[in-house]
Amino acid sequence: MYKKNAWNKYNENELKSLFDFCDDYKDFISECKTERECVTYTINLIEKLGYKNITSFKDIKPGDKLYAINKNKNIAIFNIGKKPIVDGINILGAHIDSPRIDIKQNPLYESDGFALLDGHYYGGIIKYQWVTIRLAIHGVVCKKDGSTVNVVIGENPNDPVFVITDLLPHLGSEKLNKTGAKVVEGEDLDITVGSIGLKDIEKESVKNNILKILNEKYNISDEDFISAEFEIVPEGKARDLGFDKSMILGYGHDDRVCAYTSLRAIIDSSDCCKTVCAYLVDKEEIGSVGATGAHSLWFQNTLAELINLQNKNYNDLLLRRTLSNSFMLSSDVSAGYDPLYKSVFEKNNACFLGSGLTFNKYTGARGKSGCNDAMPEFMAKIRKIMDDNKVNYQTAELGKVDAGGGGTIAYIMGNQNMNVIDAGVPVLSMHAPQEVVSKADVYEAYLGYMAFIKEA
Ligand code: MN
Ligand code: MN
Repeated sequence: MYKKNAWNKYNENELKSLFDFCDDYKDFISECKTERECVTYTINLIEKLGYKNITSFKDIKPGDKLYAINKNKNIAIFNIGKKPIVDGINILGAHIDSPRIDIKQNPLYESDGFALLDGHYYGGIIKYQWVTIRLAIHGVVCKKDGSTVNVVIGENPNDPVFVITDLLPHLGSEKLNKTGAKVVEGEDLDITVGSIGLKDIEKESVKNNILKILNEKYNISDEDFISAEFEIVPEGKARDLGFDKSMILGYGHDDRVCAYTSLRAIIDSSDCCKTVCAYLVDKEEIGSVGATGAHSLWFQNTLAELINLQNKNYNDLLLRRTLSNSFMLSSDVSAGYDPLYKSVFEKNNACFLGSGLTFNKYTGARGKSGCNDAMPEFMAKIRKIMDDNKVNYQTAELGKVDAGGGGTIAYIMGNQNMNVIDAGVPVLSMHAPQEVVSKADVYEAYLGYMAFIKEA
């Protein structure tokens, strides 16, 4: 089912399951706006289904369902198959970090009667898109006593929200002559958080009032910001988009749409011949670096633990063979063709909303720089699996050859000698506060991922 619009193929029952699936997905992205929230949600969901933490296993056998967590920001979920792990794993790898505005370590200041938090953007954002929209604060404060306070402010209708202000057009003549990249700059992304001063204080009375509120309501002190991780994200729930409700408008489709569909593909599949895995990872938007990014050794360490649980005389060769024998879909979103911005796409090699799961054989920039160029042998296997299972799929490049570029975690796993290809959902307005996906593509991604883990 290559390059065909998926909406035409569904019968009434299929349409119902598609819309039900997308309602579950909307709940997921409405609730999970940080990596940690995605991990917590996933644990709650899968424990109800009988998945157990890998640390509680002495050995593993076919049919076992388990998960491993890394620093509350990565999770890998496994269904143990009938074949030995060393024969290879079928992996769906998605990222659960999304572009946003973090706050600095010393963020709270007062200026001309306002209290503000000094922001520092995370990931590749178009900065002018993030002003004058309702923002919420999601995150944690890690206290010196070892405790962690979870914070979500702005999602409950009774909560206050926050904003980054912008200049009125009447006074914007100089600003509007700037280039798009400069019209709102990094240091302009400060969040307004209050304006009432404490009566009996002369200096920084508004800032001190905010600190008083933070202390009373959330048990947070000024210095606690040093060990806090606050993510400033768009407020509110994901919503149906269009008269026909065919699309979803929401924050963080990149890449939680592929994370959720990958997760559901694993938990909704049983009796796979091989061991199958959903690997949900952090830090993709800033280069997959650090202990919780895809470059971390954590995933390999986890596979080593699994092999050891299955095969008591573990040795390094078994891990290396497992990696080489594994197949992976780097489940990440693709740039959907936007009729308002035709000029940056090459239509024959663009993906369209509604035409299904999108495979990017390569991403990268200019002459494919930095990409994982998937093997045609692997591509042929994928074509067969998609067609045999009547999954709508398409292939795409990330826009015109010299228009820009981007990357995913594909090459990182490719470097470990796995066969990897990017496969995800087309998105409009990628990295904007509200992104757009088609419900048909969300559903086809889920079906395509299930087919892949069963048959690859
Ligand atoms: Mn992505
Ligand atoms: Mn991205």
